[in-house]
Amino acid sequence: MHPNNDKTWHDWRWQIRHAIRSLDRDFCVLFGLDFQRIDAVQRRYPVFLTPYAAAQLTPCSPEDPINRQMLPHPDELREEPGIGPDPFSETGGAACCFGLKQRFPDRVLVMASAACAMRCRHCTRKGLLAQAEVIRTPEQLRTAIEWVSAHPRVREILISGGDPLLLSDAKLLAIVRAFAALPQIDAVRIGTRVLSTLPMRITPRLATALGKFKKVWINTQFNHVRELTPEACAACARLVEAGIPVSNQSVLLKGVNDTVEALFDLCAGLQRNRVRPYYVFLCDPVSGIAPYRVPLRAAKALERELVIRLGGLAMPRFVADIPGAPRKTPI
Ligand code: SF4
Repeated sequence: MHPNNDKTWHDWRWQIRHAIRSLDRDFCVLFGLDFQRIDAVQRRYPVFLTPYAAAQLTPCSPEDPINRQMLPHPDELREEPGIGPDPFSETGGAACCFGLKQRFPDRVLVMASAACAMRCRHCTRKGLLAQAEVIRTPEQLRTAIEWVSAHPRVREILISGGDPLLLSDAKLLAIVRAFAALPQIDAVRIGTRVLSTLPMRITPRLATALGKFKKVWINTQFNHVRELTPEACAACARLVEAGIPVSNQSVLLKGVNDTVEALFDLCAGLQRNRVRPYYVFLCDPVSGIAPYRVPLRAAKALERELVIRLGGLAMPRFVADIPGAPRKTPI
């Protein structure tokens, strides 16, 4: 069912309200999944599928690249030696102040939302979002602004979560406005996956409002060319035409985009939509994502082949985020 002519379909709040939060036996049968094994996974790592997301799924195809990103995999519960739930100390680690973390001298991460429009199966913050310290009150925001003002080396703000675009326009714009108003800040980067998971969230009004700051950059995440649906392409266009640079950070995922053809189609599709293919990340050393990990050797071979086929503007950098490293590490 795709009520494309129904106004509610294009209402992002309606999409969130009608999300599937648990898979039942009938759903698993339809999608070729073993209910008992999937149920054990979803109890630990929940599911969240909007009607928009569910409409992208293919029945009886657990290995479909879109299904793999959205539906639980039994091997998510497989333990991997030396891999834990929080390698970057995102919970309980040293914070600058509530909701503000700094890994690099010129940038800070602002945790603005613990919610997402999808529970991506390969998420690096999987299992951590419920405990995330998220800025919710005007006092917390004021304290964060004061901290940044007192640290003039900080010139870039990364607003992330969860997905900050799950906030209301008013809350999101208040956060962006507060940081963008600091003269030391050159860029307010928003990390969001709604372009691929909930594109109707990018309303013309929101895109225009964000563009007016003239400091906002959007980093998003498409992992497969099929995520570039007509709705997603239209959402990208609204941002680009509002003057906002949009870049893509894919995750290299087994069974999703771990072939040269899949990466080529994705990068070419992004470029066609004026979205810059920026990074391809190796999966982080986080527990719960064993079925998606691509070995380093295979990633290097993919990068070598892709660079031959893609022009520089469409070629992403292959990097790994290594705990304790001073920057993203080229593979
Ligand atoms: S949108 Fe991002 S933070 Fe949210 S579940 Fe997906 S990968 Fe994780």
